[in-house]
Amino acid sequence: MKTVSILAIAAFLPLAVFAQKKEASITFDSLPYAFNALEPYIDAKTMEIHYTRHHRGYFDNLLKAINENSLGDKPLSELLAKAGTFPPAIRNNAGGHYNHTLFWKVMAPNAGGVPQGVLGERIVATFGSFDKFKEEFTKAAMSRFGSGWAWLCVADNGTLFITSTPNQDNPLMDVAEKRGTPILGLDVWEHAYYLNYQNKRASYIDAFWNIVNWPEVSSRYLALTETKKQSGKK
Ligand code: MN
Repeated sequence: MKTVSILAIAAFLPLAVFAQKKEASITFDSLPYAFNALEPYIDAKTMEIHYTRHHRGYFDNLLKAINENSLGDKPLSELLAKAGTFPPAIRNNAGGHYNHTLFWKVMAPNAGGVPQGVLGERIVATFGSFDKFKEEFTKAAMSRFGSGWAWLCVADNGTLFITSTPNQDNPLMDVAEKRGTPILGLDVWEHAYYLNYQNKRASYIDAFWNIVNWPEVSSRYLALTETKKQSGKK
């Protein structure tokens, strides 16, 4: 009997390690630059509060909600894709965590300008020109009533589209009007701009173009379209 129980433990050991690894995959990444790095476009105080309190709050509450609903075996991608089937605490905080993690990475100091390479070409082909793209994205960000996000996304067929979502929803969710994978996101909650811009969302959106990390957005676009090409070949 002793031998059997030892064997049983040994058999389950790799599974336990695997489960731990999976849970650890929802991480609170460090900010890729200093709080003041995006000044004067986003001020240091806003960045600090936004990252350490708002984003941290979504992250902590996500872990709590995962625990309370025994969803520890689900990857973040599944929590998002089936958001509509889970309690609101999962939908709101999984979205809040994913959205902010992306947001910090698609901004950078000394950035902005015009996207180069394939993404730059696809933006011009899709929207007419880079300025037209900016206009359409700005419109999506401006017309989102209350809190939410504006997105540049890649659809399942590889095409680009602009959309916006309310609250902490995003286009990866089953509840989204238009579904796709976001490669650029802009937080238009007042907490993202109120200290510096007060009610002037348009000025904040204008400033955003100076800190868009196009190389990062491009590499996300290429990774997605390469994956689609490869899976299409099979
Ligand atoms: Mn936010």
